[in-house]
Amino acid sequence: MEQLIVTLFLIFFIAEFVVEFVLNELNLRYVRARWAERKIPDFFQGKINPEDYDKSFEYTLAKGRFQRWAAIYGVVVTLLVLFRGILPFLDKISAQLAAKFFPIAEAQGIIFCITVALVFSLASLPTDLYATFWLEAKFGFNKTTPKLYIADKLKALLIGLVIGVPFLFVVLWLMEAMGRTWWIWAFLFISGFQLLMIVVYPTLIAPLFNKFTPLKEGELRDRILRLADQIGFKTSGIYAMDGSKRSGHSNAYFTGIGKAKRIVLFDTLIEQMSMDQGLAVLAHEMGHYKMKHIRRMLVVQMIFLFVGLYILSLLVNYQPLFAAFDFDHPSNHVALVLFSLLAGPFTFYLGPLMNLLSRKHEYEADCFAAMTLHEGKSMEEALVNLTIKNLSNLTPHPWYSAYHYSHPTPAERIAALRQCPV
Ligand SMILES: [Zn+2]
Repeated sequence: MEQLIVTLFLIFFIAEFVVEFVLNELNLRYVRARWAERKIPDFFQGKINPEDYDKSFEYTLAKGRFQRWAAIYGVVVTLLVLFRGILPFLDKISAQLAAKFFPIAEAQGIIFCITVALVFSLASLPTDLYATFWLEAKFGFNKTTPKLYIADKLKALLIGLVIGVPFLFVVLWLMEAMGRTWWIWAFLFISGFQLLMIVVYPTLIAPLFNKFTPLKEGELRDRILRLADQIGFKTSGIYAMDGSKRSGHSNAYFTGIGKAKRIVLFDTLIEQMSMDQGLAVLAHEMGHYKMKHIRRMLVVQMIFLFVGLYILSLLVNYQPLFAAFDFDHPSNHVALVLFSLLAGPFTFYLGPLMNLLSRKHEYEADCFAAMTLHEGKSMEEALVNLTIKNLSNLTPHPWYSAYHYSHPTPAERIAALRQCPV
């Protein structure tokens, strides 16, 4: 049975790797072929200059090549952790540490989960450093200094501990104390925790990393006020963020629920755009709010969580699963970690489905912006502008974008925008 479990996992694990690797190669080949023929999509004709076009090509290529090696590296790390006795070793260390310093039942599990997370984040350091300080820097995007980078990592670690330890404590306690129905209690707790984080993240955690300032007085603000009034969005929730501190990439997003909802515009975006374009982007973000997109995504995630916890509840005492990965007996914390490591190759097919839903939301928000402003031109210009400034891939392979993209390609968005009844 143990052999079967390992084989089944490896089949799915390799399948995931192959799918993603092949998609990346297809995309690279596709982009190269289009670049060689200088096939600029219609919507960008005459808007992107040849140097930017070449630069976006080089950037796409560099990222794709990096992805190739990062994927192989990720596979090696996961296989080493799973099949080289690292997990049982960490479990033993955790038991010793817990016995020595924290004599409560959940301590071993908490220490184990945290050390596993640490191993993975340490393992991701080389690729992360390379992406930030070489890849992004080479194309002029990286603004993160080594000092800021280290401060960010330490802050993230600290916050992770402050939130993670009590979270793990409750989950492990529920698993132990609630008998067969523990997973329903865990579902309620984790769902509540997610809701809490949606409120806490934008208001308490994000400000630890970035400065959020209400929009400055002026014509832009006045026009935003009018727009927000028309839509029914409280303008106290519109902020500019100093994204330029870390990267030259520009962006805008809508987050939070209830009183904690807010629209965030990167300072880089405000700088790069005309007033009409900026207003269109805001109208788009308000569209996400108006059409309750965050709530819808949350419900879908909760369904996944519910099903996932139910499956975990069936496996939590299944001896062969533990034996397959060199553990002599089942335990809740090992089940938790094994499940989250093993589930990936089985659930990665859900990623494209979530992206499909996300892209549907983007089309809706684009159309909402055009209808609210009674013109789609500004949104269209904003999209073209954002794409060029971020050196985004103008011609992704259709399969690649369908699989990976949470936003439709700019060409798809503009084509859809032109169909909106404004
Ligand atoms: Zn959007």
